[in-house]
Amino acid sequence: MSGLSVRARLAWLGPGRLVEDAQVVCDGGVVTYAGPATPIAEADEQLEVDGFVMPAVADRHVHIELSDPAAVLARGVTAVRDLAWPPERIFPLADASELPTYNGPLIRAAGPMLTGHGGYPTKAGWAPAGTAREISGPEDGAAAVQDLAGRGATAIKVSLNAEAGPTPTDGELAAICDEARRLELPVTAHAQGVGQVERALGAGVDELAHTPWVRLSDDVVETVALRLRIVSTLDIRSYGRDTPEIRIAVDNLRRFHQAEGTVIYGTDLGNGAIPPGIDTREALLLRDAGLEPEEILHAMVRAPLDVDTPADLIALARSPLDDLTAFEDLLLVVRAGRVAMTTEH
Ligand SMILES: [Zn+2]
Repeated sequence: MSGLSVRARLAWLGPGRLVEDAQVVCDGGVVTYAGPATPIAEADEQLEVDGFVMPAVADRHVHIELSDPAAVLARGVTAVRDLAWPPERIFPLADASELPTYNGPLIRAAGPMLTGHGGYPTKAGWAPAGTAREISGPEDGAAAVQDLAGRGATAIKVSLNAEAGPTPTDGELAAICDEARRLELPVTAHAQGVGQVERALGAGVDELAHTPWVRLSDDVVETVALRLRIVSTLDIRSYGRDTPEIRIAVDNLRRFHQAEGTVIYGTDLGNGAIPPGIDTREALLLRDAGLEPEEILHAMVRAPLDVDTPADLIALARSPLDDLTAFEDLLLVVRAGRVAMTTEH
């Protein structure tokens, strides 16, 4: 007998799997049991929480070195995807994040953003040297993808920010997407400026790294919903305030969701006043965009709790299915089967 058992009044283990008097057992970094409490499923360490258990949260758009990894983990996010940072810094950090000694979330990374000469974010104040990689021709674009894949990139980030400088040419963009597809890496794009979402569609990009905050036509929204997923990052358009940009972004995402597009939770952590860990405001904005509570949880979690999935879970004092502000009342964070934060003593 070994591992960790967590028992709770109520658990949401994944879509359609709400369980009363639930138990999750973890061993060796994975879930070995998730379902109704059972006397058979015992473990060395047994926790009972007076609350609600669900899978831990993954933030699919961060710049982790601009935040506090320990606070990110303690506030319920056990996995992040870094979408632009110098490769010599982020890939070693991603490797280190796999060790039990690392006090932070599991980090997966894109490395630098691929861009045009002098393009975004070469001059951006937040971006240290190496955050952008300027592409010189289609062959160089393909070579950059190969190089990043070899270093452990789990996605390729492309800058299509035409408002902040040159972007990769159509030929470069096509070569980047073709090579990424060959290597089975998703391409995520920062699309900003007239026609850039359409360019992403035409080139076969897989994902928009932000919900666009300029109004998309219904036709474009419908095509995007068929072909691309969107990382939400709504809160960076408002930080809790009412702004023209947040209204447009929420409206774009509402129509995208109505058209059955796939929304995934991401905050762009490191960009302005985004709190480390679960961003309740982002969840509330997803609700404003028309997602049902269970759809919001599905968009936020790393993976459902099931046999052999990562042993990453959180416990809250009450159910976020009733009220999303429940994310403010975190009781427990488990990453890879180890307690990373608990309010119990
Ligand atoms: Zn970003």
